[in-house]
Amino acid sequence: MKLLLHTCCAPCSVYCIDSLRKEGIEPTVYWFNPNIHPYMEYKARRDTLIQYTKDINVEAIFEENYGLRDFCKNVINDLENRCKQYCYPVRLEQTAKYAKENGYTHISTTLLVSPHQNHEALIEVARNMAKKYDVEFLYRDFRIGFREGQAKARELGLYMQKYCGCVFSEESSNYDHIISEQKVQLLKNKITERKIRLALDVPNLELKQYQNGNKEQIKFIYDLKKEVYQKYVENIYGEWNEEIQKKLFDKFMKENLKNIELIYLKDKLVRILQWKRNRG
Ligand code: SF4
Repeated sequence: MKLLLHTCCAPCSVYCIDSLRKEGIEPTVYWFNPNIHPYMEYKARRDTLIQYTKDINVEAIFEENYGLRDFCKNVINDLENRCKQYCYPVRLEQTAKYAKENGYTHISTTLLVSPHQNHEALIEVARNMAKKYDVEFLYRDFRIGFREGQAKARELGLYMQKYCGCVFSEESSNYDHIISEQKVQLLKNKITERKIRLALDVPNLELKQYQNGNKEQIKFIYDLKKEVYQKYVENIYGEWNEEIQKKLFDKFMKENLKNIELIYLKDKLVRILQWKRNRG
């Protein structure tokens, strides 16, 4: 067997190479990862693998392709399925192609070590690519050694990445906690919105909300439907008058909800209301 092992990074390769060697299989490491961005991250992972493969004396081939533009063009229309639809196929196709052209009989990938990857999709894509290029796919469920490999990589002081590779995975990895904070905030906003609706007693009032990230404040943009407000004004004052609208709106709000501050946006019927939770 002559195995070309697609390798995504040094830490993931640790367990895969160790366990293959224990089986008596000597892989050739194959770096082809146009999915790792930005460039300094790509370089850090590649350079770590260059050093690691030298240290453990394994043959390694580095296929340079940063590929940012092609990657973005190909995933942007279906971000949810980008791993299976583009990222796995593009890497494993190149691996299978290179294997065929250079006399390898088998391909595999270190991606199979990660519990964070779509393991079933990887198997399917790898099988298809192997078939397409008339080589064999060597399947191993390397996931059993994920922790062991990561621990060894840490001990060795290898560079450990904090996200899968693309900027979208970086967003999920580093931005998730902010997203969940935002979800909590949005929920609080919804509660406030409901209070405001009840206080105003105008169920068909259109209320849009946005956040500025400040936990102490929740800002709302009210898009007050003219006819709703007009009806209110007419009920109280008997007629609709654009000129007195601003004053009346203030009065209207103050009467109905005390802890609302109004900021006018020129002549529009849009108002930014600032609600402070600590106010009485
Ligand atoms: S999350 Fe990882 S596997 Fe999926 S597209 Fe991004 S880099 Fe590729």
